[in-house]
Amino acid sequence: MKIRIAKNSGFCFGVKRAIKMAEDASKKYDEIVTLGSIIHNPQMVKKLEQQGIHKVNSLSEIKGRPTIIRSHGVEKNTFNKLLEQNIEIVDTTCPYVSKTQEYTQLLGKAGYQVIILGDKNHPEVIALQSYSDGNTIVVKDASELPDKKFDKVGVISQTTRNIEDLQNLTRELLPRCRELRIMNTICNATSIRQKATLELAKESDLMIVIGGRNSSNTKMLAKISGKYIKTHHIEVAEEIDKKWFKNVENIGITAGASTPDWIIVEVYNKIIEYLGNHEKKISKIEDIPGLRSKDER
Ligand code: SF4
Repeated sequence: MKIRIAKNSGFCFGVKRAIKMAEDASKKYDEIVTLGSIIHNPQMVKKLEQQGIHKVNSLSEIKGRPTIIRSHGVEKNTFNKLLEQNIEIVDTTCPYVSKTQEYTQLLGKAGYQVIILGDKNHPEVIALQSYSDGNTIVVKDASELPDKKFDKVGVISQTTRNIEDLQNLTRELLPRCRELRIMNTICNATSIRQKATLELAKESDLMIVIGGRNSSNTKMLAKISGKYIKTHHIEVAEEIDKKWFKNVENIGITAGASTPDWIIVEVYNKIIEYLGNHEKKISKIEDIPGLRSKDER
């Protein structure tokens, strides 16, 4: 039986940067909070809590404490209110997300009808909308477009969407508007993980996708893999069922951009344990076949 991991699995540049900034800040301040979850991984959020980085859900809970802005950003008004209240801000918004906010603002100001491809309940999309001064339509795919013609349309994508959905949306829009501007704001880290997952899914009999159930990019990996092969989306090793491995030869593992290495290692070791190969347990992610090198992530 072979177990392989999709290359590029786990933390992306933006998440690594956010966690490092938060940990550095926690050494500098006695008390520090994050406004919302810093990343979409409940286990990592819990670990940070143990390091004294507390999560709050509203401005009123901050009570003057230094505040970390999560990797997927906050609404413009919220940011401005923190500034007005002279709250010390540690802004871990991923530079790729900031760029997306900038484009949304530019298009909105230039009079484009901004159409965002994304999940309207996702914090990144909620924040994005605030940058176009309210003139936005959010669709999860082309089928949700309103049945009408447009004049000038600017398309923005949530960073974790897949390119096919963006292509379908713009194909549908083109005959319906006089001018169409498309900003391909799908993050490279997202598309690389999707491609690696797809390649591994095609060569596996079973796929295990690891990451927060609230993580859009992890859910997207599970969707992509599930189109090809039996796929289980889990958050932690304890969710694995030994029965999954009956009559399976090739097991593939992949993990979202917000999944910490230690959880991936625990999942790998749990599979090894269930297969009866205790001596093959590992202590670091680089030892899992397939991941070639940490730098590739
Ligand atoms: S997935 Fe991309 S946009 Fe999101 S935090 Fe990672 S690098 Fe940034």
